[in-house]
Amino acid sequence: MSKRIFLSSPHMSGNEQSYIKEAFDTNWIAPLGANVDRFESEIATYAGSTCASAVSSGTAAIHLALDLLGVGQGDNVFCSTLTFIATANPILYLGAEPVFIDSDEESWNMSPLALEKALIEAKAEYKLPKAVLIVNLYGQSAKMDDLMTLCNAYGVPVIEDAAESLGASYKGKKSGTFGKFGVFSFNGNKIITTSGGGMLVSDDIEQIKRSRFLATQARDQAMHYQHSVVGYNYRMSNVLAGIGRAQLEVLDDRVIARRAVFERYAEALGEIDGLEFMPELENTFGNRWLTTLTLDPEKIELTPNNLIDALAEENIEARPVWKPLHLQPLFEGCKYCSHGENDDVSKRLFERGLCLPSGSNMTVEEQGRVIFLIKQQLRM
Ligand SMILES: *Cc1c(COP(=O)(O)O)cnc(C)c1O
Repeated sequence: MSKRIFLSSPHMSGNEQSYIKEAFDTNWIAPLGANVDRFESEIATYAGSTCASAVSSGTAAIHLALDLLGVGQGDNVFCSTLTFIATANPILYLGAEPVFIDSDEESWNMSPLALEKALIEAKAEYKLPKAVLIVNLYGQSAKMDDLMTLCNAYGVPVIEDAAESLGASYKGKKSGTFGKFGVFSFNGNKIITTSGGGMLVSDDIEQIKRSRFLATQARDQAMHYQHSVVGYNYRMSNVLAGIGRAQLEVLDDRVIARRAVFERYAEALGEIDGLEFMPELENTFGNRWLTTLTLDPEKIELTPNNLIDALAEENIEARPVWKPLHLQPLFEGCKYCSHGENDDVSKRLFERGLCLPSGSNMTVEEQGRVIFLIKQQLRM
């Protein structure tokens, strides 16, 4: 059997051990310390936001952002439907209700048209959402100008789930810095990783301070252990923050490498009739975290699952596009606003889409193997 080719595997820089060693040398083996402080300020500087708070996962960062915006029992939160479950789970942690918003074809991300429809309807029902959670899927920015204009017009704060889009930018501004809060993830399969971890960024220093308070069990300022609100244990380990610091040093290289992976796929497969890659919006610079494409069933007999199975037989990991959240059993009965009257864009992208191996450490030879097999399956 050939060596396994992963969808997206960790890619260390070699410098991680020196920051980890620092943590050990100073005995800061705890969810605080110099690496945590430095990682926070380095991410904030990189993204161009005022401050950041390092936490144990991207999911935790979303949970904190929603909590900081006062989301609670019975509130509505608008949320991109085409995303990983982690975007929406924290809405349920807080007892709130998600309303899912469809994608559009150009960005695969939240459709401004669908968002506007949902906002008009919500306003008429006196039930505007407490927050709008906008995802930048597979490293591609959503149409932030249009979406922000709408959210500002209705006075609804935005949380940007940039878990997949660290290093990407939209009109020269870094992904994750458009809303009140931005969220990054350093899970093992993300563009950079700390094995597990996340970051909350914002320009609101007071709110970031409060996020640190909430993330350390919300302990009041008193000698004895006193607590007035519900807190969490969500801070990032100082050891893992060390990994993050070294990873951040090579983030821009990783973006270049992922984009090069995409370019090679596009060059080799771009001419195939019925095969379309996820587009890149004008004036945006995606990180191409995963190269993603659709197969048009009218032109290509092979389904995405056929292709995923065929690649799996050759020890190559590919996977479907995220199953939209409005189609998940967990969210049965939740409200959903589609892009068009009879046009469920996210469902179509799910039915036709797949993600190809896209790791920054995948060799050109390995990628050649993937391309060869895809062409063989498509009888090219
Ligand atoms: C990975 C991911 C998350 C969650 O991040 P974790 O660090 O795994 O908790 C949230 N949203 C999206 C879109 C993701 O891909």
